[in-house]
Amino acid sequence: MPRPLSATVHTAALASNLAIARAHAPKSKIWAVVKANAYGHGLARAFPGLRATDGFGLLDLEEAVKLRELGWAGPILLLEGFFRPTDVDVIDRYSLTTGVHCEEQLRMLEMARLSKPVNIQLKMNTGMNRLGYTPERFRAAWERARAVQGIGQITLMTHFSDADGPRGIDHQMEAFERGAEGISGTRSLANSAATLWHARSHFDWVRPGIMLYGASPTGKTADVANIGLRPAMTLASELIGLQNVAAGQTVGYGSSFSATGPMRIGVVACGYADGYPRCAPEGTPIVVDGVLTRIVGRVSMDMITVDLTPVPTASIGTRVELWGAKLSIDDVAAACGTVGYELMCAVAQRVPMRAE
Ligand SMILES: *Cc1c(COP(=O)(O)O)cnc(C)c1O
Repeated sequence: MPRPLSATVHTAALASNLAIARAHAPKSKIWAVVKANAYGHGLARAFPGLRATDGFGLLDLEEAVKLRELGWAGPILLLEGFFRPTDVDVIDRYSLTTGVHCEEQLRMLEMARLSKPVNIQLKMNTGMNRLGYTPERFRAAWERARAVQGIGQITLMTHFSDADGPRGIDHQMEAFERGAEGISGTRSLANSAATLWHARSHFDWVRPGIMLYGASPTGKTADVANIGLRPAMTLASELIGLQNVAAGQTVGYGSSFSATGPMRIGVVACGYADGYPRCAPEGTPIVVDGVLTRIVGRVSMDMITVDLTPVPTASIGTRVELWGAKLSIDDVAAACGTVGYELMCAVAQRVPMRAE
């Protein structure tokens, strides 16, 4: 028998979340973002739930090829573009759309021997200051791209730094409009947060990622509770050990938890080698037999220890949910000082995962 730990990808939840993205941006096409192996869900497992999308956005050429092998004949966008001249051969062979954010990429496209023009998304740096041309340099870059024979359609693209926060998108929208003034062509700006909360950024294509997986761009469950997003992954295990401890006894490495009275401790088959964050502090929520309780003691490589006070009937083999249908990944992430994105991407290879 394998360890009782496993992850389940909920196909119906993915499809429902995609429909919610579409309902929020009804006039736009959708790049369903499946980078990082579909945010840890597995590209092949996520694909059936997301196939009603208009296109897929990702980073790795290998993942793009895998999508073609899964039978996806529609658009695929390389969000970061490409890195080597040989990448352009793959882009050509598999008819990929690519981001372009610098002169070096334009030069590689210029030098390439292509069977047909490549569609690109020319990236404007509107304030994130990672990739792209500044608004001041954008027009010249666009004219330069237009002059490259191997380039087909040019979409204007930028990425928001604060669509999920108080700063919002005004400053970047202003920069984008300045840089794109007088330039025709389709536009692609919105990530999940902008898809949900900033309709004026929708334009021709939106690029939702995290919302498709049922987590919040802000990391706060409350921010998406009314939208109806459903968790696309459940990480579940079982109790594999029980301990009764007395007042003053400690639990786990470093004796970080000390019982204040007699209590029952449950040992869960899941640890940081499975991708559960080692930094999860005492009090991190966890669900045992459908009942919300908390982690006590330090997360170790293969085990977590939990407080069984609210579940006196729990025994060996009792089901434990680390996150998923009953416990929002955002709430677990918040306790750990991070966001759901990081937790779902970090589920380890050794955790068996299947779609249902
Ligand atoms: C990751 C990514 C997205 C999706 O962001 P979410 O916050 O997950 O919706 C959209 N666009 C680009 C360029 C990205 O890299």
